[in-house]
Amino acid sequence: MNRKISEKQLIDWDKKHYFHPTSSIHQQQDAGAKHIFKSGKGIVLKNHKNEAYIDGMSSLWNVNVGHGRKALGKAAEKQIQQLAFSSSFSTFSNEPAIRLTRKLAQLAPGDLNTTFLTSGGSEAVDTAIKLARNYWLIKGKPAKTKIISRTKSYHGVAIGATNATGLKPFRDFASAVSPDFYFADHLSIDSLKKTIQQEGAEQIAAFIAEPVQGAGGVHPASKEYFQEVRNLCNKHDILFIADEIITGFGRTGKWFGIEHYEVCPDMMCFAKGVTSGYLPLGGVMMTEALHHDFINLSSGTVLHGYTYSGHPTASAVALENIKILEQEDLINNAQKREADFEQLLNRLKEKHPMIKEVRGKGMMWAIEFSDRTTSSKTEVTAPNVVEQLLSKGLICRSVIFDELDCIVLAPPLILSKKQLKRIIKIIDSTLKNYN
Ligand code: PMP
Repeated sequence: MNRKISEKQLIDWDKKHYFHPTSSIHQQQDAGAKHIFKSGKGIVLKNHKNEAYIDGMSSLWNVNVGHGRKALGKAAEKQIQQLAFSSSFSTFSNEPAIRLTRKLAQLAPGDLNTTFLTSGGSEAVDTAIKLARNYWLIKGKPAKTKIISRTKSYHGVAIGATNATGLKPFRDFASAVSPDFYFADHLSIDSLKKTIQQEGAEQIAAFIAEPVQGAGGVHPASKEYFQEVRNLCNKHDILFIADEIITGFGRTGKWFGIEHYEVCPDMMCFAKGVTSGYLPLGGVMMTEALHHDFINLSSGTVLHGYTYSGHPTASAVALENIKILEQEDLINNAQKREADFEQLLNRLKEKHPMIKEVRGKGMMWAIEFSDRTTSSKTEVTAPNVVEQLLSKGLICRSVIFDELDCIVLAPPLILSKKQLKRIIKIIDSTLKNYN
């Protein structure tokens, strides 16, 4: 890592050797990596050319405490020097993983007191699906295997998570058409009722939903929606799995997004913000009732575990990250910023007729564009706007699945009002070009 390598060389190697995740392969091959990031501090990332960019997406909705936190580096270094890794299989365990699962129990809503640890979100979702099916097996209801999720949902890229993802292009990518996965319309309780009726409650293991949908274009649900979900799941003996992979750890202005709806899921998947992305970690939490059933009814071994389940160093970093979220009151900051986002984005909407809707919660927001024909000078499409914003120093993301055409913002939870105003100013001046 010491020899200085030119940017051109890096771009060539990137094309030849680095198969990028979730990317246009042609764009990578034709244009090359446009930004090779090298450093980060607070809400700002710097690339190889030393150009600064506001990370308006917390990278992948995950760098909640912002970039460049030395305390997290120190926590990792200390743990690596003491015990970088050891197994959690069978009767082995380690102190950081134990402390982390205890801390999570204190933070999580209701009696979600026990956690299975993974390395990320997709593994967490696959774990929840497998545990839900195993649960019904040990409860003597082996026919309950079906998983209901929602349109516009994103649950990850492991095979179970892909099958549960409502955004169809992700399923089509690898012909992910396993049986037993069904979709209800994303914000409609009637559609969920209908799906349960059609598929038969006696065959349904679980319903999985993001409290606020993220990758599908930021869709908060009404309060009644999840209260009804909880009632329906109770009534039909269906496990309710909350996918808090984006919404967990303060993103929506509470520790977990489901708290806005005052209900408790049976299982809760998390990842991303638990370490703010400094090391990979995720997991699934379960209620005491579920845990007790697993203890009392399971006859054999839990035949599900990742090498890195309960990784000591990742756990130590998660603990330190949670400490920062607490000490700096960042969940409250996200809550406070919600009103600022709402006010400033609505002002933008009044100014720019191409904005059809702004919506969000806490620190995750979408600006949706009107039908393309309404713009006069240049065609407004989200990817085009995102390119323009990038050229002005702001990173955000476009969502163009289904009929959606929006840009999404989810900055680190440390964002000040002044910084938010700067972001809004960049968007304002960019959208002016389209009027
Ligand atoms: N669920 C949700 C709601 C997500 O947003 C994501 C990732 N964006 C995942 C699951 C998958 O997580 P990972 O990319 O860590 O596997």
